[in-house]
Amino acid sequence: MQWEVVIGLETHAQLNTVTKIFSGAATAYGAEPNTQACAVDLALPGVLPVFNRAAAEKAVRFGLAVGARINRKSVFERKNYFYPDLPKGYQTTQLELPIVAEGGTLRIQVPSTGSGQAYEKDIRITRAHMEEDAGKSLHEDFHGMTGIDLNRAGTPLVEIVTEPDMRSSTEAVAYAKMLHSLVRWIGICDGNMQEGSFRCDANVSVRIKGTDTLGTRCEIKNLNSFKFLEKAIEYEVRRQIELIEDGGRVVQETRLYDPDRDETRSMRSKEEANDYRYFPDPDLLPLVVSDAYIEEIRSALPELPQAKRERFINEYSLPPYDAGVLTSARELADYFEATLRSLLSKGVGILTTPEYPSAEIFAAKITANWVINDLSSALNNASLEIVDSPISSAQLAGLLKRIQDSTISGKIAKEVFAAMWNGEGEADAVIEAKGLKQVSDSGAIEKIIDEIIAANPGQLAEYRSGKDKLFGFFVGQAMKASKGKANPAQLNEILKQKLAG
Ligand code: ADP
Ligand code: MG
Repeated sequence: MQWEVVIGLETHAQLNTVTKIFSGAATAYGAEPNTQACAVDLALPGVLPVFNRAAAEKAVRFGLAVGARINRKSVFERKNYFYPDLPKGYQTTQLELPIVAEGGTLRIQVPSTGSGQAYEKDIRITRAHMEEDAGKSLHEDFHGMTGIDLNRAGTPLVEIVTEPDMRSSTEAVAYAKMLHSLVRWIGICDGNMQEGSFRCDANVSVRIKGTDTLGTRCEIKNLNSFKFLEKAIEYEVRRQIELIEDGGRVVQETRLYDPDRDETRSMRSKEEANDYRYFPDPDLLPLVVSDAYIEEIRSALPELPQAKRERFINEYSLPPYDAGVLTSARELADYFEATLRSLLSKGVGILTTPEYPSAEIFAAKITANWVINDLSSALNNASLEIVDSPISSAQLAGLLKRIQDSTISGKIAKEVFAAMWNGEGEADAVIEAKGLKQVSDSGAIEKIIDEIIAANPGQLAEYRSGKDKLFGFFVGQAMKASKGKANPAQLNEILKQKLAG
């Protein structure tokens, strides 16, 4: 039987406001337990919530970034349930009238897998609403007792819900990554997954391919890494298919993923689900936002990742993959463009190839390569963010300029890059100090080639008798003799002539 997987995601992103959604207590992570919980967060009698308008601004910014309709009037409701980390006895959330209504989409880039090509897909955003987080129960280090930390109580969240549009764990992860990069890009969430600032619930069902009706779903709660999201979905899909094929049926329930055992386990079934008795919070007025307010937020939005990605493809002729990587974070995209602008301002070099018909396109591609590969892996190894790069965009442009004008080869450039990374100075200073300038003097290159040919009469004879592959051998030998400094294009040219005899 051909099974189809159906996934809808609900994501909690913590809004990075300075204070809580209904109180003035700080939201900073990692403080001593209960030092950031005020009377409102503790639900002391007689306290009243005061809405933090910064939360609304950030939620609206998200809605506009995905092209959703913004509800001019949204309503906070009480979701009643009893739990030790919820002293109020209810969570304040939005149900019937969320701030972000329907109409939004997020375009995802699904990477190629073993069996399939990379592709793009639009995932529909059903809604996004504001709510408060609960506190935390601490089960460790309390001599068998449980401690309650209310620092997190009242932290503002935006919960982003999708339509059941994803068809594989790969698509779900691509969506989660794209959303993660978007909330950081527009500055509404720090995206720190270890600290729980960004976590996903995955709703998973299966059905026979070709059927229209949805299968019964299970919801896997609180997945706080892309790896866990992927693994949990894959396990759950296997479980549901096996269950149905063995004649059973899936019951709608909430499940938890256990990464240590790589399995999901039932938490609670729909039958025993809570009746939350939602009702509008009488202590909070409906939230009304004006058109002018929305337009103000819209006009302050930065160029969004999707638009920037398309511009990089159109303006710089970058391959879609490169453009996607460069626009995965705003700082990375900015660094790339700053480097390219600096490189182009030094005057474009003469280097063009059939692959790169203009110097501008070559400049963009070489900049993309260096930012994506060499710079990103160096940053990664040093656990540094791009904004803390020891090599500035202007300095990297200085290095790339010397590749473009053939002062050094791409290979030597890696040596110069390493020296720059270690603080040995600008590209030109390093090239000078280490004597790395490329040899473009044809007399000198000819001399090297003559020596190599003379030293390898056997290979020469074989080459001339038709073993073309040996050309690479001669290139390698000559390059080595020049200590990697011979201009590769010139070396190839001269070698071809000499070998032909
Ligand atoms: P609830 O209010 O119980 O959480 P919703 O109808 O709001 O339920 O759906 C929550 C999430 O589950 C949404 O992301 C939705 O797309 C997804 N979903 C709903 N039905 C299915 C299904 N049969 N299979 C997979 N995902 C589903
Ligand atoms: Mg749900």
